[in-house]
Amino acid sequence: MNLCQPSEIRRLMEEAGIRFRQEYGQNFLTDPSVPARIAEACAEEAESFVLEIGPGIGSLTRELAERYARVVAVEIDGGLIPVLEKTVGNYGNLTVLHEDAMKTDLGELVRTYGEGRRAVVCANLPYYITTPILMRLLESEAGFSSLTVMVQSEVAERLTAGPGERAYGAITAVLGYYGRARRLFRVPAGCFLPVPKVDSAVIRVDLYPERPFRPQSEKLFFGSIRAAFGQRRKTLLNALGSMGLPLTKEALSAAIEAAGQSPNVRGERLSTADFVRLSDALFTAMQQNSVVPGT
Ligand code: SAM
Repeated sequence: MNLCQPSEIRRLMEEAGIRFRQEYGQNFLTDPSVPARIAEACAEEAESFVLEIGPGIGSLTRELAERYARVVAVEIDGGLIPVLEKTVGNYGNLTVLHEDAMKTDLGELVRTYGEGRRAVVCANLPYYITTPILMRLLESEAGFSSLTVMVQSEVAERLTAGPGERAYGAITAVLGYYGRARRLFRVPAGCFLPVPKVDSAVIRVDLYPERPFRPQSEKLFFGSIRAAFGQRRKTLLNALGSMGLPLTKEALSAAIEAAGQSPNVRGERLSTADFVRLSDALFTAMQQNSVVPGT
């Protein structure tokens, strides 16, 4: 069965009495080289455990099940479950779960199916929830070592941009807290059915086994990133002023300088490590004022 052949995809869906569900971000791959490349890129060891989010009709799922020891695919659309039974039901190392990946207990899933293997995520992500799913995966303590995901091209650019670059945003600085992202390759819109409006790209995020950053207060760390990017055109001093911290403008300015930055810099120039230093300086300044925020 050629799962990337548009006529085959349509036939499978017709037989199952289902249609493409835009609300679930369903754009299935039609270029057979792409699922193979994504699967190849997501792990180094054949013994790995792979979690796939959104298997669709199973084109990437099949490539994963061919290569890796254990695969679990989580699909929200119940109409696709009987299709997956037909297309990839023959793999003994694969389990398909009819669940919402935003609600699945990821830690439990890795414990149950991972059996101590190195765990990675591999997915052609549904566009409507790319950021919430990514944040959920980054924040999860499930023990994934990497996330290889296809996202819209401009999202890939944002996630892999460096400080000061046009595409660099709050999510880039936040992502840098959890791991390192790199762009692997572009996938033109014509490689999907239905054809989306924009191109996509595959990125891989290698998560830190142990986070190199330990801000004194995570609340201040994330809060300062939010403030800096919420008002991109403001200077760092003015942007941080909007956080409502119990610090005078002079104290705020001194804390920014203590973190090695100029109060006049724009927040978008700061790396993840810079934000850690900045939030630590704010923390210290507040301690000196005897105001310690919740960590
Ligand atoms: N992996 C297939 C491929 O590459 O051709 C399909 C990818 S398609 C872009 C996204 C898939 O994610 C769809 O099958 C969709 O039904 C599924 N999906 C959407 N939201 C989901 C969620 N919250 N949890 C699990 N799967 C979801």
